Amino acid sequence: MAGVRSPFVVVMGHVDVGKTLLLDKIRGTSVAYREPGMITQHIGMSFVPWQAVEKFSGPLVDRLRLRGRIWIPGFLFIDTPGHAAFSNLRKRGGSVADLAILVVDITSGLEDQGVESLKLIQSRGVPFVIAANKLDRIYGWKSVENRPFLFAVEDQEWHAVATLEERIGKLIEELSKFGIEADRYDRVRDFTKQVPIVPTSAVTGEGIADLLLVLAGVSQRLIPKEKLQVGEGPARGVVMEVKEERGLGVVADAIIYDGRLRKGDVVVTAGLEGPKEAKVRMLIMPKPLEEMRDPEDRFMAVEEVKAAAGVRIVADGLEGVVAGAPLLAVWSLQDLPNARRLVGEEISEIKIESDREGVIVRADTFGTLESTVLFLRQQGVPVRKADVGPPTHKDVVEAVLSRRKNPAFGVILAFNVKIPPDVEKEATSSGIKIIRGEILYRIFDEYLKWSQEVKT
Ligand code: GDP
Ligand code: MG
Repeated sequence: MAGVRSPFVVVMGHVDVGKTLLLDKIRGTSVAYREPGMITQHIGMSFVPWQAVEKFSGPLVDRLRLRGRIWIPGFLFIDTPGHAAFSNLRKRGGSVADLAILVVDITSGLEDQGVESLKLIQSRGVPFVIAANKLDRIYGWKSVENRPFLFAVEDQEWHAVATLEERIGKLIEELSKFGIEADRYDRVRDFTKQVPIVPTSAVTGEGIADLLLVLAGVSQRLIPKEKLQVGEGPARGVVMEVKEERGLGVVADAIIYDGRLRKGDVVVTAGLEGPKEAKVRMLIMPKPLEEMRDPEDRFMAVEEVKAAAGVRIVADGLEGVVAGAPLLAVWSLQDLPNARRLVGEEISEIKIESDREGVIVRADTFGTLESTVLFLRQQGVPVRKADVGPPTHKDVVEAVLSRRKNPAFGVILAFNVKIPPDVEKEATSSGIKIIRGEILYRIFDEYLKWSQEVKT
């Protein structure tokens, strides 16, 4: 039987805008207002039930005429904010994330990584809302803990409201440069055309209620209903992180967005060499809060998880699996070849191996590689080769070949990977430029500057 799952929500934005604190505040809401037994815990994400949101938001639910009209069960917040995590939430043709919150500091606007977040969100076609955070910093603002913004704004001196409006105005103008029409959320008439701005404070909790209610409204209007439908068949998910755990070996933290994953299942996922299968030995989830005795005793093994879920998978065969890889469970060995084919096809859409002219791209995961290539394509930069992992000698050779056509293609763009010293040396002696970094559009800006230089 199919059911409707909660939407996955990611938090994005520049460093220090308040992403972590905002997530803490939202999680706190759900802990403080939960029904006993309501909260389900996950690896890598937090479930906030709609009931908790409704209780927390009080009279604002009526003011926004949402009472009785929300059918989503709640929200699943992805716990790790940031570009890499967002990139790894990839799935074929888009993102596992259903919604994004772009957090900006209301006193400083978009900033570098805010712009990058925006571009990433747009490139994956994820609907988003803007949290204009640090509202309490508006000069003269009178804070009351956890008060909804709409009530708070009616209770301020005119000069504080004037400052706020000026800041929001600036933000709207800045966003319009990226082709985005935005407005304060209570002034938005058409959510399919305008992006709502919700003033928040992660410190005082003001505006958090508004943010959660806007997310609920936007979820029901903008996420295709089919996307939230989950089945009961073999699990489909994505690998978020692969790591070595003491006593367990290599484990994968994964998000399951459809179906069921059971202990003993075979899963097909992918490493550098292509599809790879593993047999699930253990599925690990955090213990419910009330059963947690000491910090050492945080996890428990479960027999099965159902979408939507975040889970730690202990399995034989996870060595070399790369984050951002798809994960498909198979329940019958007959289905194995097909699962391998599907995963293989998906991976070959991300990796590029061609003989056309273009730049060489390297990134640390399938997710970041796909994001980087998507971004370059949007900017009209052709890619000759794209792969996961540090650059190799062969990449230098490829770059030399590509340069023959256009000097601006004699380059390796390396996202979040280390450059082996011998490869660096060879690149230098062959006159191949390596541009390395952790911020996509810094790498791109540097590339643009360099390509202008080599052309002239
Ligand atoms: P992140 O880098 O985006 O995750 O930002 P953090 O959540 O770590 O916050 C960065 C700093 O800004 C911390 O010192 C927070 O206490 C502060 N901060 C975050 N949100 C707010 C807010 O709404 N108001 C004020 N005054 N400070 C905030
Ligand atoms: Mg943080």
